[in-house]
Amino acid sequence: MNTDTTHTDTTYTPRPIAPDALKQLRDTDDAGRPCVPYVDAEGGDPLRCCLRPIAPGERVALVSYAPLRRWARETGAAPGAYDEQGPVFIHADPCEGPEGGRSGYPFSRAGALRTVRRYDGQGHIVGGRLMEIPEDAERGFDGVFAEAFADPEVALVHVRAVEYGCFLFEVRGEV
Ligand SMILES: [Zn+2]
Repeated sequence: MNTDTTHTDTTYTPRPIAPDALKQLRDTDDAGRPCVPYVDAEGGDPLRCCLRPIAPGERVALVSYAPLRRWARETGAAPGAYDEQGPVFIHADPCEGPEGGRSGYPFSRAGALRTVRRYDGQGHIVGGRLMEIPEDAERGFDGVFAEAFADPEVALVHVRAVEYGCFLFEVRGEV
């Protein structure tokens, strides 16, 4: 459950939505709407709590999530107008989070397009990059994150799907 110790063999740790945030989102989401669970018969959409696709028949919910706002609350940053929220799938019931020992970055099908958006310590956008996931996805992500964190101003990055613009996971500077 502790996202800081989730073992991966990647250089940076892909962070799922934190357990305390999930608890709140399962009641009322970041847009103030009640959580509406349903059973997804088909599956396949990305779960931001467990960083894997929904398996057919799982009980899930689509909720509005404000990743930057929640990070800012922890750190005292003031993102101001950069704050935003968007739809994410989560398990509708308490879950274990990403599997321990899992390797690689989540949702990394080769050929998929990602935006890697950089934020500074105040939560202001300080650049970004469009990325087509290469065959060696792990190396591709490692390179893009290394490039982002080479700028000492960069405190965290958000990885988003290009077509839907939705937040997939975040990576923080290891300082
Ligand atoms: Zn989950």
